[in-house]
Amino acid sequence: MKRATFRLAGVLAASSLALAACGSDDGESDEAGSSEASGDGVTIGIKFDQPGLGLKSGEDYSGMDVDTAIAVAEELGYSEDQITWKESPSAQRETLLETGQVDMIFATYSITDERKEKVQFAGPYFVAGQDLLVSADSDIASLDDLDGKLLCSVTGSTSAQNVKDEIPGVQLQEYGTYSECVSQLANGTIDALTTDDTILAGYAAQDQYSGQLKVVGAPFSEEMYGVGLPKDSEQCVEINEIVAGFWEDGTMETIIEDNLGAADYTANPDLNPPADMGGHCG
Ligand code: GLU
Repeated sequence: MKRATFRLAGVLAASSLALAACGSDDGESDEAGSSEASGDGVTIGIKFDQPGLGLKSGEDYSGMDVDTAIAVAEELGYSEDQITWKESPSAQRETLLETGQVDMIFATYSITDERKEKVQFAGPYFVAGQDLLVSADSDIASLDDLDGKLLCSVTGSTSAQNVKDEIPGVQLQEYGTYSECVSQLANGTIDALTTDDTILAGYAAQDQYSGQLKVVGAPFSEEMYGVGLPKDSEQCVEINEIVAGFWEDGTMETIIEDNLGAADYTANPDLNPPADMGGHCG
């Protein structure tokens, strides 16, 4: 992939880690938290249906979360072909980590106190905000306009929870994935889809919805994207340092532009780089 062109600063560190990893030929796994299922590699949970973030098309995986995961994995000593991708829908993420089905998750995964009871988070590596996606001719301009409207979101997401907390009277329809909500929005079955503005921008920019959908543009939460890790992983602090380095050397900015630029999405400069990187391990 194209990472080599902008990650020269990390190459030396990565190759020494890779050598260290390759050198341990004593038959014992010394990769803390490495999954049995993935053998010498690493299993990473991502979304499969969120363009610009985590998208599977055939055997091709793309998006900001995918590129960030590849870059972090490289720094940990894994080449891209040692990564096994596993779909991680919102409601299944804690379970996938707790049961060892994935080693780490990069899946628009907001750091929350409730989730921290079950898993730990490195990062945040990015901060998004929750917003609304509506049809291009809709007059919904804020949460206040949702009275009596049908709103769609995803089970197990902060998006659904925030809406229930903020506007208890709203009619909320919950699906397993955001792409199901988008289809319902495009065919007029629902009035609005709510989740992170990153995800909404990715859908609005898809060719098939060209000119049909718009992001309202009034974010009402702060969603800190963390690297989800099992509680017993020993890699959390190391990943914090890797992610902080990506903000210092421009890697994160390049990844964001490469993946969300086409959707005209720019990171909120008041929230990025994230302020409290590194406070969510353990
Ligand atoms: N970032 C939010 C969350 O972790 C919404 C996006 C998602 O469901 O992945 O719940």
